[in-house]
Amino acid sequence: MTPRTLFDRIWSRHVVVQEPQSPAVLYVDLHLVHEVTSPQAFQDLCARGLKVRRPDKTFATIDHIVPTDRRGFPIADAQAAEQVRQIETNCRACGVQLFGLDDPRRGIVHVIGPELGLTQPGMTIVCGDSHTATHGAFGALAFGVGTSQVEHVLATQCLLQYKPKTMQVRVDGTLPRGVTAKDLVLALIAQIGIGGGTGSVIEYAGAAIRALSMEARLTICNMTIEAGARAGMIAPDDTTFEYLAGREFAPKGAAWDAALAHWKTLPTDDGATFDETVSLDASALEPMITFGTNPGMGMPIAGRIPDPATISDASQKHALTKALAYMNLQPGQALLGHPIDVAFIGSCTNGRLSDLRAAAAVLKSRHVSPRTRVLVVPGSQQVKRQAEQEGLHEIFRAAGAEWREPGCSLCIAMNGDSLEPGQYCISTSNRNFEGRQGKGGRTFLGSPLTAAASALAGAVADAREFSIADF
Ligand code: SF4
Repeated sequence: MTPRTLFDRIWSRHVVVQEPQSPAVLYVDLHLVHEVTSPQAFQDLCARGLKVRRPDKTFATIDHIVPTDRRGFPIADAQAAEQVRQIETNCRACGVQLFGLDDPRRGIVHVIGPELGLTQPGMTIVCGDSHTATHGAFGALAFGVGTSQVEHVLATQCLLQYKPKTMQVRVDGTLPRGVTAKDLVLALIAQIGIGGGTGSVIEYAGAAIRALSMEARLTICNMTIEAGARAGMIAPDDTTFEYLAGREFAPKGAAWDAALAHWKTLPTDDGATFDETVSLDASALEPMITFGTNPGMGMPIAGRIPDPATISDASQKHALTKALAYMNLQPGQALLGHPIDVAFIGSCTNGRLSDLRAAAAVLKSRHVSPRTRVLVVPGSQQVKRQAEQEGLHEIFRAAGAEWREPGCSLCIAMNGDSLEPGQYCISTSNRNFEGRQGKGGRTFLGSPLTAAASALAGAVADAREFSIADF
């Protein structure tokens, strides 16, 4: 038999119809919904007299607009309050399970899918959110879709998709101490560029990937979209199965045994081919930081900002020149020691328990700089509860950081958390576009270790220079 990839296996099992020169009609196993991209879709669905085809395969949460400050409730912002009202009304009317404001399972859509066991290997998953690629960490095929596609999936449980190309990213070696999954994926995007994965589904493989925890794999797949790829995937293995076992929506009993037997057939066969392969040596990586206004403008933390004059490609030269003007940075400048106004530890990239543990390991028994405001925002209610059981919130508070309610927070600045114009933020989120964290705000992307170390220093800092017992 011809060796097959993980992607090929999932794709072929889900094609309902494939006509020549047309997109495939792809069956969707799981549809995740949130309050920002769903109201229009539900409204159009109702206007056409259609029903949600599979409410049992559709789950909703509230994350983007939710205040992360307890004092933000009830929600004062009229538009945000209306979005909450709409998703509550729509889900009730359509029989869709909503993890609403008071639900102990609520959180960022890409955090709760995995932690509730909704996300499973071999699935096709869609959500009206770019970072749906996150779920591929379980060996699922997960696409971010637009509002009109949300409506389409609600109505039909299917998605029209042209078959993507495949790319394998092989990461061998061992990540050095103080270098995390976030650094790995930022290094990849810096290497292949924000268009490097365009049109492709990336499968991550190699010893360094296999050695990652599930939460670290989620970080990698989350940022795949920032390389322009359609999705990211990691073959399921014992790490995946151990993570899923016993979770609320994971199969149980005989269904678990059957699912496990199927999941073990999914990984890419030896000898299967990809349209493109990229290799990275994990052992050579260092903590990464971005200096510009897209996630590909990144460098090792001790590096120096490149000079647009050395770039021959006109559009790249223009993009870097524009980015440095926005960031008020100079070619050749080092970022270590650059003052930081805000440190943000959270988001669907790095708002999970292991991320908070890493930040706490740096902040423990220390105090953040008086010039830096530090927000620690758990990715879900469950993450918040677990962190509090471990006493992490007390470490953060004792260090002078703010311990907030779960939500997207400063990743997107549509919930009351935002930068002031001109402020610099070291952020564990995934996007550093102009204005992403607030109009005129300037973002350096980095890992939770880097964000925590920078919070202590009040300036960009290398966590490896701090004595930390274990992280
Ligand atoms: S944390 Fe940021 S990237 Fe993730 S779902 Fe929320 S807004 Fe989107």
